[in-house]
Amino acid sequence: MTSPARHESVASETLNLVEAVAREFDDIPREAVVKEDCLRRGLWFTEEALRSGHEYARKSYFIFSFDHRPLEDMADAPHRDDAPEEIALEGGPWGFQRVIVSVRLNPDSPWLIELGDDDQPVLRCGDTTVCQVAFSPRPPYYGQELDDGTPITEVAPSIEWGYLLYLTVFRMCQYFGKEEECQFCDINRNFKQQRALGRPYFAVKPVDRLLEALDRVVASGSRAKAYTLTGGSVTSQLEGLTEAEFYVRYAEAIESRFPGRWTAKMVVQALPKEDVQRIHDAGIVIYHPNYEIWDRELFERICPGKARYVGRDTWISRILDAAEVFGPERVIPNFVGGIETARPFGFRTEEEAWASTGEGLEFFMSRGIAPRFTTWCPEPLSVLGKETGPATLRYHVGLLRTWRDTHARHDLPAPPGYGEPGLGNAVFSVSSFMDVIAPGTRTLPARP
Ligand code: SF4
Repeated sequence: MTSPARHESVASETLNLVEAVAREFDDIPREAVVKEDCLRRGLWFTEEALRSGHEYARKSYFIFSFDHRPLEDMADAPHRDDAPEEIALEGGPWGFQRVIVSVRLNPDSPWLIELGDDDQPVLRCGDTTVCQVAFSPRPPYYGQELDDGTPITEVAPSIEWGYLLYLTVFRMCQYFGKEEECQFCDINRNFKQQRALGRPYFAVKPVDRLLEALDRVVASGSRAKAYTLTGGSVTSQLEGLTEAEFYVRYAEAIESRFPGRWTAKMVVQALPKEDVQRIHDAGIVIYHPNYEIWDRELFERICPGKARYVGRDTWISRILDAAEVFGPERVIPNFVGGIETARPFGFRTEEEAWASTGEGLEFFMSRGIAPRFTTWCPEPLSVLGKETGPATLRYHVGLLRTWRDTHARHDLPAPPGYGEPGLGNAVFSVSSFMDVIAPGTRTLPARP
């Protein structure tokens, strides 16, 4: 871990950087600037802050690690296991409106949550108190075990401040090894590290176990409004099923037991149109065929499995085909904001990277499809995480402006299935795109 003197100097540089970027992008809320910095660098907690007596939802490792250190490297800080899933930044000396931030652990981060003068958690950077902090509320079903002893949080954790049930039904990916895995992704290695620590973390979720968990979620009075069915890609077969068949069987089971209860979302590959139709017919209403990065050469380097098995042009044309099945506003492909600058292959300047990603946004948004993004966290267990630090804060905040302005120029509605948009309302925690949508932007019902 970093020495106190070095920590102070990094904290001072961090605050100066936040000031400079907030000044340059003065139409982006300062809350979003701090949130992006916490996401790209990670944050840390004192033990006292985690022991301050209130209940909250702990980090569930719902799919990737989203940490800046492997868990074993943080073994001398056992309170790492008590970190919350998310935190809210609000109020305090900087007068923040609420923003929700996904927790990405980094013991060396200048962003530290500790107890303030009134014994309530605050976000500090060095000696500067930035705002108050609340921890993610604990859903009423947390703490339960299923009949076979599996903790319910292994099966159906809640994220986005309780809005979304995150159902990772396949915790591995058949793109395996550095020749095939997306280079920013640690899904397979995170699975291994969780298992190595003896945590209950299963590769494939039985359908019955998932339904039992959802029965309990419903009985508990959970306020979740949506679910995401997801997991790694299936390039050949899994349990004798193709990717579409494998994931559709969960959607059919959920929608048959709880018809229309939640906004049903699915993150899988860009599949042929007939498979996409099956996904739609199973009751899914929002489809996320994540393209990860726009630039052709970088897509091939950073997503070698996707490039080889599907190909960028086919991936893009399948996104457009999916818009005919779901309607363009319900096809929401993700990209990983920041990987376009990752060493050694990424763009050298922020301006080049904005131009490239902006071209992709223009391509999709001019067709009514609004991609969303997650802020890249260089996970050390991923291929890229070993080679490079995060993208710059200036890049992330400029990307937010590019996304917001392109979205507004095409007069698109707020992406459905994410809850209310706008500062103080948004709950999406792994990037700030929902925080920067202007008040008065059209919204759609979550289900068509
Ligand atoms: S397709 Fe890529 S991003 Fe998705 S789980 Fe597999 S390796 Fe990770």
